[in-house]
Amino acid sequence: MSDTRHTKVLIIGSGPAGYTAGVYASRAMLEPILVQGIEPGGQLTTTTEVENYPGFTEVQGPDLMVKMQEHAQAMGCEIIGDIISDLDVSKRPFTAKGDSGTTYTADAVILATGARAKWLGLESEEKFKGFGVSACATCDGFFYRGQEIVVVGGGNTAVEEALFLTNFASKVTLIHRRDELRAERILINRLEKNEKIETLWFNTLEEVTGTDTPLGVEGVVTKNVKTGELTEIPCKGVFIAIGHAPANELVKDTLETHMGGYVVTKPGSTETSVPGVFAAGDLTDHTYRQAVTSAGMGCMAALDAERFLAEQDD
Ligand code: FAD
Ligand code: NAP
Repeated sequence: MSDTRHTKVLIIGSGPAGYTAGVYASRAMLEPILVQGIEPGGQLTTTTEVENYPGFTEVQGPDLMVKMQEHAQAMGCEIIGDIISDLDVSKRPFTAKGDSGTTYTADAVILATGARAKWLGLESEEKFKGFGVSACATCDGFFYRGQEIVVVGGGNTAVEEALFLTNFASKVTLIHRRDELRAERILINRLEKNEKIETLWFNTLEEVTGTDTPLGVEGVVTKNVKTGELTEIPCKGVFIAIGHAPANELVKDTLETHMGGYVVTKPGSTETSVPGVFAAGDLTDHTYRQAVTSAGMGCMAALDAERFLAEQDD
């Protein structure tokens, strides 16, 4: 059954940016509707300990996101489990279509669709996705108890995933294309102290190898970027942790984007190239990409939306 819901402010996304926008827009009496998308709680639901969100020395990512959801709800934000499949920002009120069949119309929209894991784009990676190849250690690490695993990447995610996977794996090989990690020093220190982790520098993943029946990973082939030398590493799990790309599908043809698809916002603001459409969090941010900065931008977006709507009423 299809129905139409109108709201002053439609918030798309339920990560730190979306929920914080929900708190602020509710307290501004804008009665926002927040649509959660396919990943309620966003990226932090795919990790374990978060140690850098102010007020929490340590908190589990999924728990933090439940608290944020409860906070937004307590302030009056209506939270809906739906996925927006189409967004028309060519005229006001803006129109968003939900997979549920509901059409949402809104006087202002806050985009907080975040980012998604990047893949290498190898045929063999695609073949074994879900059968030994993963981009989420917290989701899939448990399947590799006592097994050997490789992790690809050199950022915070790769190092955290490698560390986390030592809880299950007999050995973790971190494969990085350079000889320098871009992860934070505290994580690198932990990595260096962990005897289960070996690091393979200057190597890229060339191929995932395995069996067809049953479909499963048996190893990887890596290539030394300096010498071209190929190395075979036996393993049962391959975790790709090479960063994230902005989830801009709804607006990539209608809003101005830059730097590989990040939505452009005016400096010091969350205003996009379309008046009344605001963007916050990892969708707009190619620099910081943190939970706390996303939450901060969610706050800004709600305040910007409130100001925009007040100006329309004048
Ligand atoms: P996201 O968290 O990416 O959430 C996006 C939301 O948009 C999701 O709810 C999704 O369902 C929704 N969405 C997308 N498309 C649609 C659609 N079409 N319709 C409706 N909804 C949609 N940061 C830290 O500060 N500390 C950490 O310790 C930390 N650890 C991390 C560990 C991992 C493994 C990863 C991947 C990231 C980590 N980060 C950490 C980064 C942090 O998670 C992100 O910066 C933050 O989550 C971005 O928040 P966001 O609100 O912009 O979007
Ligand atoms: P990232 O910082 O962009 O790092 C991506 C890593 O993958 C880089 O080391 C990069 O190599 C490598 N890489 C990229 N493309 C590759 C390819 N095609 N082949 C091989 N290697 C490739 O991404 P991230 O680690 O996912 O982090 C994303 C954001 O989330 C960051 O802002 C990070 O701080 C944040 N985050 C924070 C925490 C935390 O605070 N504890 C935890 C996780 C994530 P190069 O180094 O050579 O470019």
